[in-house]
Amino acid sequence: MDEFETIVEIISEFLGDPKKVYENTSQVSWDCPVCDDDKHKGNLEVNIDKGVFHCWSCGEFEGTHGTLNKLFDKYGNRKQKKLYQVLKPETVVKREKKKKALKLPDSFTLFKDSSHVYPIRRQAMNYLKSRGITDEMIEKFGIGFCDKGDHAGRIVIPSYSTNGVLNYYIARSWNPMSRAKYKNPEAEKDKIIFWENLIDWNKDIYLVEGAFDGLFLDNPIPMLGKHMSELLFDTIYQKAKGNVIICLDGDAWKNAVKLYHELNGGELYQKIKILKLPMDRDVCDLKGQIDPYYVIIKD
Ligand SMILES: [Zn+2]
Repeated sequence: MDEFETIVEIISEFLGDPKKVYENTSQVSWDCPVCDDDKHKGNLEVNIDKGVFHCWSCGEFEGTHGTLNKLFDKYGNRKQKKLYQVLKPETVVKREKKKKALKLPDSFTLFKDSSHVYPIRRQAMNYLKSRGITDEMIEKFGIGFCDKGDHAGRIVIPSYSTNGVLNYYIARSWNPMSRAKYKNPEAEKDKIIFWENLIDWNKDIYLVEGAFDGLFLDNPIPMLGKHMSELLFDTIYQKAKGNVIICLDGDAWKNAVKLYHELNGGELYQKIKILKLPMDRDVCDLKGQIDPYYVIIKD
């Protein structure tokens, strides 16, 4: 018996026998426990793959719609719900994970909220200073650090969407011995624009790989890697009014040229500029001193 059949069987333990079962579309219907009244209309539809239910008759005004977790909470028992948690499809698990609002790590502390003599704050600050990061940057970008928990020993650079909601963060270890340099959230970085709330679309935009690079430039967008997401590409096309300057790391010259040609068209034609940094350097290493590295690409 597969998961689909087993889940249908568990739900049938509290809703009775299903009226219709369509395994290929993953749809199953039952009599609604709220409004059916022994008429056996089978109005309560469940989609096992999507992990949702809805009563076509009373769903809107009785609240008989939502996730299967809610259905189990309302009509099933704990044992049935537990079994469902084990069996539910991967697609549902993924969607549930995504839905959880992103939060900064528990011990996240802004530098201004911690004592200057606190040793961990000093370690964090020493690391930032060693990379040339100034108090103004720390303030402007809301940079903090973590002293406890699973992000202890990390600098955290948060990112907010245009409506001020945390959409991502970078958590960089300041301990050179740390096994994982970065411990970033699982949230899909392709679905967000880093520092979206800080971007001025009327000014020149600097495309960089990492958040640390972006700190040194005016109006930066970190791509969080060498590739540009579809979302960022489309958004730049729609919104960018100034020049777009590609400032990828020295080892990403091929990626940079490719991006140049992809962006250099339509409204953006001749507004794309590109830097060729030394092979083992990035904008952060150069502390934002990028002027000597502009190059001209012949179309
Ligand atoms: Zn109903």
